[in-house]
Amino acid sequence: MLLDRRTFAASSAALVGGCATVGARPRAIAGCTPLAPVNVDAGRVIRTVAGLRPYRAAGFVVRREALGNKALVHNYGHGGGGITLSWGSSRLATNLGLSGHSGSVAVLGAGALGLTTARLVQEAGFPVTVYAKALPPHTTSNIAGGQIETAYLYKEDAVTPAWRQQLMAAMDYSWRRWQIMVGDEYGIRWLPTYEETQLSGPNPMDAYYPATKVLSRAEHPFPLDNVVRFETMYVETGHFLRQMMRDISIAGGKFEVREFPNAQAILGLSEKLVFNCTGLGSRDLFGDQDLHPARGQLAILLPQPEIRYAVSGGPGYMFPRDDGIILGGSFELDEWDATAQPDRIARIIERHKRFFQGFRCTA
Ligand SMILES: Cc1cc2nc3c(=O)[nH]c(=O)nc-3n(C[C@H](O)[C@H](O)[C@H](O)COP(=O)(O)OP(=O)(O)OC[C@H]3O[C@@H](n4cnc5c(N)ncnc54)[C@H](O)[C@@H]3O)c2cc1C
Repeated sequence: MLLDRRTFAASSAALVGGCATVGARPRAIAGCTPLAPVNVDAGRVIRTVAGLRPYRAAGFVVRREALGNKALVHNYGHGGGGITLSWGSSRLATNLGLSGHSGSVAVLGAGALGLTTARLVQEAGFPVTVYAKALPPHTTSNIAGGQIETAYLYKEDAVTPAWRQQLMAAMDYSWRRWQIMVGDEYGIRWLPTYEETQLSGPNPMDAYYPATKVLSRAEHPFPLDNVVRFETMYVETGHFLRQMMRDISIAGGKFEVREFPNAQAILGLSEKLVFNCTGLGSRDLFGDQDLHPARGQLAILLPQPEIRYAVSGGPGYMFPRDDGIILGGSFELDEWDATAQPDRIARIIERHKRFFQGFRCTA
């Protein structure tokens, strides 16, 4: 059940250092469990990164309004689920904006939300220009681990039933769109995922966890009590965003590096329809004080091709990618410094090291 699982994963990840006690000494487990452990060691770290999730407790915004003589459609505030929701949220936004429109279109922002919006605008037959302060690889979207999952996205008691419907509609389109892009071209693949869980009842999001199975302790090697296994998709975000820029350019789209200091500056654009996909930038640009940074930090280890599964909960999370093994699990609200903090990174590494050294034999 997605929301409870992720709530639990989110809270355990926030409490870095508070994980369950696991064996601290390496064990020879080769051949006694089908899952290879990740070789976690500070000496294998190839880079560290930090990014600021555009978090709104009340959830992401898709809304149309007037700005002078222009139509402005907001599409921002996706917290820790902006890769996941990008296609679907952008679909809702373009449905709102393109109806009755003629002529060219401006998209502000070149992260996952801006690029998916631009592509959908093109698919609907309109010329597009993307204006952004920074282009990939210098966006928050490039930092994301890339699990198709709606984690760190909103606060249960701050959202409305109408917003939940918006979430479901966005997820529905995203889920279908990601599937038809699976493969090396966009850097998207399915992986079995093991998640520490608190079991609960059925949830509308269950459809996005195919092949879910609750595992007994004999069925998994992890030093955890409650584990479910399911399948989900993972996006190599840098790869995906690069391909999206290519697709938009091939279809005649233009990119212009430009920072908008305030909403008034947008009035100078020639386009009559503008999509705002500026992520955390919307806080200053449009005065949305409900939008907060939620810093996430990652340690990336040398690639380990034999790791063909992902883990969430417990130590934080581990996603294997071609460009390295991603270790994460921090959610630091109102931290504006987007640089990796050595003490936090050290804790992420230590938690994962203890976790993978705590593997048990299952056969
Ligand atoms: C460590 C970490 C791990 C994550 N893992 C996942 C995950 O596994 N799955 C998932 O779905 N999501 C994940 N996320 C969340 C995801 O990264 C964000 O939700 C997503 O990147 C938001 O995309 P965006 O396009 O709204 O914003 P951004 O990627 O930040 O793009 C915003 C764009 O707007 C531009 N801009 C901003 N202000 C202005 C301005 N004033 N003028 C002009 N341009 C401007 C920027 O330059 C940029 O081009 C993670 C985030 C972090 C930090």
